[in-house]
Amino acid sequence: MFSVSLDLPEFEVVKQVFLEDCNLLHVEKNTTEERCSYCGFFTSHVHDWRTRKVRDLSVLGKPLFLFVKVYRYRCHNCNEVFSQTFESISPNKHQTNRYREYLYEMCIGSTIQEVSRKEKIPYTTVERIFYSVAKQKEKEHLETLESVLENHE
Ligand SMILES: [Zn+2]
Repeated sequence: MFSVSLDLPEFEVVKQVFLEDCNLLHVEKNTTEERCSYCGFFTSHVHDWRTRKVRDLSVLGKPLFLFVKVYRYRCHNCNEVFSQTFESISPNKHQTNRYREYLYEMCIGSTIQEVSRKEKIPYTTVERIFYSVAKQKEKEHLETLESVLENHE
């Protein structure tokens, strides 16, 4: 039995499934505490959970899907229910950050149409990811520029 090295330290791999046309990894975050997104209080009181299917970089020449168990916690302090957050996946996204980045780079080297065909992702999805990553990069670039300028004043 061989195993896939995920290289995302925040996740623990619970189960691996190798299929004909893709690989699946069931993962969950390896922490039992989460900071409340409303008040900042730490809690370990699990309210419920759901599974989010997230595409990641291909492994062994096949698309990789993560079935991420996303826990929702109830805060002891303010009583609000909030979802876990992840370093490698942005809220409500169905691709890891590194996979989105990879798609963006691929689009630059070819076309959105080509990437859509190769990765078997709808054209509109690739297009949306491309512009979203581009916008993020522009923002980071401006912030770097601003901090450089500030340091020179
Ligand atoms: Zn709270």
